[in-house]
Amino acid sequence: MIAINNGTYWNEELCRYEEVPTFPYPTEIELLKIFPEAKEMIRQKIDEWIRVKGRLLNQEVIPALNRINAIKDDFTRWFWKEAYKSFVNPRFIEAIEQLARLERLQILTADTKHSKNIVGFEQKKEIAKQTPILSLYFFQKLRKLGSRYTALCPFHNEDTPSFIIYPDNSFYCFGCQAHGDAIDFIKLIKGCSFKEAIGLMAGVA
Ligand SMILES: [Zn+2]
Repeated sequence: MIAINNGTYWNEELCRYEEVPTFPYPTEIELLKIFPEAKEMIRQKIDEWIRVKGRLLNQEVIPALNRINAIKDDFTRWFWKEAYKSFVNPRFIEAIEQLARLERLQILTADTKHSKNIVGFEQKKEIAKQTPILSLYFFQKLRKLGSRYTALCPFHNEDTPSFIIYPDNSFYCFGCQAHGDAIDFIKLIKGCSFKEAIGLMAGVA
C-alpha cells in the first residue's frame, strides 16, 4: 500500500506551507488524443532525427572513436574511451533519446491489437513516471530549495537531508546514491520489480 502524501511542504523561498502538487502535466497519450495530427508529425520528426544522428555519427562520433582506437598504449586508449563516453556530443545523445521517444509514440498511434496492449502498458508506465515522487511517500524534513526539494532519505538512516527531488521528477541521494524516476522510487521502497511497481502505481493513479 503506497502512502499518499496529501499534505503540505515547507516552501523555503516564500516561507510558507504549500500544497503538494499533483499531476502537473498531461501524459503523452493524453496529448496524442488531443492532437491526432501529431501522428504525421511524429513520422517527420523521426526522419529528421535519423538524419541528425547519421550526420553526427559520420562527422563526429566515428572519427573520434577511430582516433582513440588508433592509440597504441592500452591504458591511454582505455582512458580516452571512458572519457569520450562522458563527453560525447550532447546532440548525439539527444538524437538517440528523441528517436527512442518518438518511436515509442509511433507505436502508440498505430491501430493494431498489438499496439492496444502496448498502449495499456505504456499508458500505465506514463502515468507512473509522471506521478510526483512527492506524492508517493511521506517525506521527513521536506523542504523546497529553489526548484528542488530536499528531505531525509527513505533508503538510509540520516539526520540531515541528502535526498533531492528534482523538477523533472527524478531523485538522487547524496548519502547512498539511490537515484531514478518515480518508478525506480517505488521499486526501491517496495523492493518490487519494474512491472509490479507500475501495477501498484496504476492502481493508485
Ligand atoms: Zn540515501
